[in-house]
Amino acid sequence: MKTITIIIPVFNEGSAIERHLPVIFENIKEIKEINISVLVVDDGSTDNTVEKLKKLCERYNTLNFICFNRNFGKEAAIHAGLQQSDTDAVIVMDSDLQHPPQLIDKMIALWRQGIDVVEAYKICRGKESYFSRLMGHSFYGLFGLLSGMNIKNNSDFKLLDRKVVDAYCTMSEKKRFFRGIIPWLGFSSAQIPFEVPDRQHGVTAWSRLKLLKFSFTAITSFSTVPLQIITFLGVLCFIISFVIGSLTLYYKYTGSAVSGFTTVILLILIIGSLLMIALGVIGIYIAHIYDEVKRRPDYFIDWNKSQFHNKNLTNRLR
Ligand code: UDP
Ligand code: MG
Repeated sequence: MKTITIIIPVFNEGSAIERHLPVIFENIKEIKEINISVLVVDDGSTDNTVEKLKKLCERYNTLNFICFNRNFGKEAAIHAGLQQSDTDAVIVMDSDLQHPPQLIDKMIALWRQGIDVVEAYKICRGKESYFSRLMGHSFYGLFGLLSGMNIKNNSDFKLLDRKVVDAYCTMSEKKRFFRGIIPWLGFSSAQIPFEVPDRQHGVTAWSRLKLLKFSFTAITSFSTVPLQIITFLGVLCFIISFVIGSLTLYYKYTGSAVSGFTTVILLILIIGSLLMIALGVIGIYIAHIYDEVKRRPDYFIDWNKSQFHNKNLTNRLR
């Protein structure tokens, strides 16, 4: 019998998890001829999520959970789940039902037809503020432009075959962008559309600042175009300075030079800000390289807090 692990990263979902997880279990109960277990990765919750998970574990014998020592982020939680899984396939999904569990069945059907990656993509982004929508569209637009990969409307809700999981885990980068790396790996894939429902319980843990930092990581790990733009701007500045310089010399020698303070001030401001932006962009890349060369693990698991029914999982985990 084929086996599947559903990996669910959670962070401070205490008020919602006991309502959301049973819905997921209700949906997978219907799926026959496949052994499905659920591995929740607690991303260092500071509320009562772990107590709630312990209670749920008594109810569902296919539920296992591992806990991080602290909040390492959703990407690290997904990575940990993938590293700890040993099943024929895995499904990564959010805990808040914004990734509809009704799709699991369809995903598995496609996987059984031999497709390695089944991606659920959003046909509408759900309820969000105008600003968030604008930020989302700008990010995906910029990401597509700079990396040449169109991942617009992609979500983290994916089914991955074992070979995809193994490929993902052989990659050594620490700062990961799951949504981008999976299509980059290039395995055969199929897409299932879905509408993002509103979150019923709990609140999103993503602040605007966290999203902005995440966007920088995603873009810098997939594209070096911003660094090349700096060179391009440098060349452009040089050409402009050449033209202005020639004009200045011409005016000087023809005796028509005027006191050009405005030009000087403008030039200083433009070149100064261009230089600072350039340094900033280089800084972002250096910070990224710095994070990678430290080679710190991207998460630590608190084994005493974690709980699992599956003996195989226990062996694999330790
Ligand atoms: N999450 C996580 N670590 C974090 C933030 C979020 O594991 O630092 C989990 C969260 O519990 C949920 C999923 O990632 O299961 C998606 O988070 P959320 O619903 O807050 O994000 P959104 O739907 O707003 O993108
Ligand atoms: Mg959500």
